[in-house]
Amino acid sequence: MSDEILVKAVDVSKTFGDFKALDNVNLEVRKGEVCCIIGPSGSGKSTFLRCINLLERIDSGAIWANGELIGYRREGDKLYEMNDAQIARQRRGIGMVFQRFNLFPHKTALENVTEGPVHVLGETPKAAREHALALLASVGLAEKAGNYPAELSGGQQQRVAIARALGMRPSLILFDEPTSALDPELVSEVLDVMNDLAASGMTMIVVTHEMGFARNVSNNTAFMDGGKLIEHGPSARILSQPDNPRTADFI
Ligand code: ADP
Ligand code: MG
Repeated sequence: MSDEILVKAVDVSKTFGDFKALDNVNLEVRKGEVCCIIGPSGSGKSTFLRCINLLERIDSGAIWANGELIGYRREGDKLYEMNDAQIARQRRGIGMVFQRFNLFPHKTALENVTEGPVHVLGETPKAAREHALALLASVGLAEKAGNYPAELSGGQQQRVAIARALGMRPSLILFDEPTSALDPELVSEVLDVMNDLAASGMTMIVVTHEMGFARNVSNNTAFMDGGKLIEHGPSARILSQPDNPRTADFI
C-alpha cells in the first residue's frame, strides 16, 4: 500500500426523498489498499459505492477518485457539474463488480470482456482479445472463453465479471457483495481471485459479509450503520472487538 490517496470522501450525504441514506460519510482509501465495508442491510453500503461510481449523485460533500473530483469539472476557479459524456469518461477508471454478475447474456465470456475495451476504450479487436484471454486465464477460465453466461456456474460468471472489470484497466475496483448470490461451495473460488487481485496491488473497496476475507485480506474495514460510517481502521482492530456493541451483533 502506498501513501497516495486514491479515494477520498468528505462529508458525503445522500437522501432519497426525506430518507437519509448517507449521513456525512468520510473515508480515505490508499493506492493498493483493500478496504472492506461491512454493516447491516440498509445501512447505505451500496449507495456509497454507487456514489463513488457516479451511478448516484451526492447531495453534499465531495468525493475524489484517481485525483479527480467525482462528477464535477473545473473551469478556472469555478466548478461545474459534469454532463453524461464527461461522467461516462470518468467512470471508466472505476471498475464495479455486482452481486448478480450482470454479464451480457448473449455474449460469450470472451466477448463480455472485450466489449468495453473495443467499444469504449477504442482498443483494436486483436489487442482486446489477447488481453481478455490473459485475464480469463488469470481468473482460471481460459477454457470457458467461448461459453455463454448461462453455460457457466455463478462462481464462473462472477470471475468473468471480474475479468471484464479488469479489461477496462481500472485503477480501482468496487465490489458490492460479490459472493452473496453464490452457492456456498462457489464462494471460495471468487474469493481466491479477489485474493490474487489484492496481492497484485489492485485498489479495492469491498462490501462484504465474508468476515474471513475482511479479516485476512483487507487492510482496513469500515463499519456502516444507518447511513453513517461509524468505525474505520485496521481490519485486525475493527474485527477483533467481540464486546464492541456496534460490531458484535454483526460479526
Ligand atoms: P445496503 O447496501 O447497506 O444494504 P443501500 O445503500 O442499498 O443499503 O440502501 C440504504 C437505504 O437507502 C435503504 O433503506 C434503501 O431502501 C434506500 N435506498 C437505496 N436506493 C434507493 C433509491 N434509489 N430510492 C429510494 N431509496 C433507496
Ligand atoms: Mg447493498
